[in-house]
Amino acid sequence: MLYANQFYYKIYGYTPQSAKEKGFLNAKFILPESDYLYIKREVFQHIRNGHREFQLEYRAEHSSGKLMWLLVRCFYDPEQPDRMTCALVDIADRKEMEEKLRISSEESRIAYQLTDKLMYIYDAEKKQLHQPKAAADEFGLPPVVDDAPYSIVKSGAIDGPCKKEYIEFYEAILRGEPNGHAAVKKRRKNGSFGWYEAKFSSIYDENGNVKKAVISCEDITEQREKELSYQKWSQYFKSQEGKTIGFYEYNLTKDLFDEEAGDLPPDYLRPLKKYTQTVQYIADHFVYEGDAERFSDFFDRDSLLVRYYKGQTRGSMNYLRKRPDGSLFWVRAIILLLADPYSDNVRLFMMTLDIDKEKREELKLRSQTEHDGMTGLLNRETFVAKVTRILGEEGSANKHALIMLDIDRFKTHNDVHGHPFGDQVIRETAHFIKGFLRESDLCGRMGGDEFMVLLRNIGSEDDVIPRINMLCHLLRRKYTDKGEVSCSMGVVFYPRDGKTFRELYQNADTALYEVKNTERGNYGIYKPER
Ligand code: GH3
Ligand code: MG
Repeated sequence: MLYANQFYYKIYGYTPQSAKEKGFLNAKFILPESDYLYIKREVFQHIRNGHREFQLEYRAEHSSGKLMWLLVRCFYDPEQPDRMTCALVDIADRKEMEEKLRISSEESRIAYQLTDKLMYIYDAEKKQLHQPKAAADEFGLPPVVDDAPYSIVKSGAIDGPCKKEYIEFYEAILRGEPNGHAAVKKRRKNGSFGWYEAKFSSIYDENGNVKKAVISCEDITEQREKELSYQKWSQYFKSQEGKTIGFYEYNLTKDLFDEEAGDLPPDYLRPLKKYTQTVQYIADHFVYEGDAERFSDFFDRDSLLVRYYKGQTRGSMNYLRKRPDGSLFWVRAIILLLADPYSDNVRLFMMTLDIDKEKREELKLRSQTEHDGMTGLLNRETFVAKVTRILGEEGSANKHALIMLDIDRFKTHNDVHGHPFGDQVIRETAHFIKGFLRESDLCGRMGGDEFMVLLRNIGSEDDVIPRINMLCHLLRRKYTDKGEVSCSMGVVFYPRDGKTFRELYQNADTALYEVKNTERGNYGIYKPER
């Protein structure tokens, strides 16, 4: 040692004076014996390689006996081959931190091995993602991925809508955020997609720049799907606001009302803690008697649980509800069965919507398309369809009579007394026919002044003839200034005169034609030709 300043000696715990006294005259004094040869070899190696500047880290012994870490920067000038200038830096703190980090990363490595989480290291400077073998296997990516996250997104491994969140996760690291979180849908090696939750913690260098981030990643597919179902349901619920009468959540597994979600139940339901009691109460007090059984069947706890386990998680039913004043209105109950993401109990979400207006319009519309506007009788298509269905469903076990009915000399009434009078006659004829029928019978206006009647489930042909005769009389009426109006009728019997509507219709037409040709205002029964 040719020269050293006082700071040099201070680092080792000496003054220039005390150093001289103790015999601290060269580096060998403060270096552990085993290190001395090693350091010396390193120095000569640098010099042989022609390095003019180089640095070494070494351990040295403090005057107190403690070992410490130091860094020495060496400057060698080949012009003065017998000397070297050195500057010392105390790197004890850095070394200690590195050691702590090593231990803590070892701890976390072991901790991660004990969980289902995958641990990654993201090198923020190189934008490299280092992943453990387990992760590389699961996602089919190399152990070190360059240009992360961009190359990963480009490879299609991240599901479309999640790309932004995925990139933002890494950009937060690059921006220097200390930690962060993301949940994204990622493609697995086998092509399937799963939901993964990732968290990061950043590691900084001494200047406060982010160097690395430790990322943990966990498969949350199952829980995520459940949460999303919840979300979708609550979004749907919000979209129905205004129409909802109530929104309730029940725990079906425990047969309990859930107070934390949904609306507070009305006062009268509050004492009923059990789901089954509540359904019973509603069925008894609010559901129209004719719908009560259907309602109870639909909301039966056991059948709902069976539905859930069969995978039928959605359902709805329309029923009539009673208002306090006793009037009825249409509602739709919509249900969703979901397993609680946290407990796996089966939950029932139930929403009741007021659909009275739509339902009544729908019924009106359906009635309009099925009925003749002028008379309110079934129109031709509906009458034919209904009779055809009855013949098909019931087979020839039951007997029916089909009557074709036509107003006599209607054209003349129209011509002489005017169309409005003609319309009145059509309406009155329909009115008389309707009054004559039983509930199960059918009547349709086939067009113009032609009607058809199906008398259902008659005993025998003879039984029904007096009734047909009566109808014939009923439809013959006198108008004081406009004379008499009558109808002619052709009658066929099912199954005797035909098995299909078409056959029956043709034969009834034949019978009617006969009457029109002989004596109008009467009926004729079809006589099969022998
Ligand atoms: P028949 O005794 O042989 O039945 O003689 P008809 O004059 O009644 O002859 P037909 O049944 O063929 O005449 C039906 C007439 O009914 C023809 C048409 O002008 C008239 N008509 C059809 N639809 C209406 C309607 O909605 N209102 C009125 N006022 N007349 C109608
Ligand atoms: Mg006519």
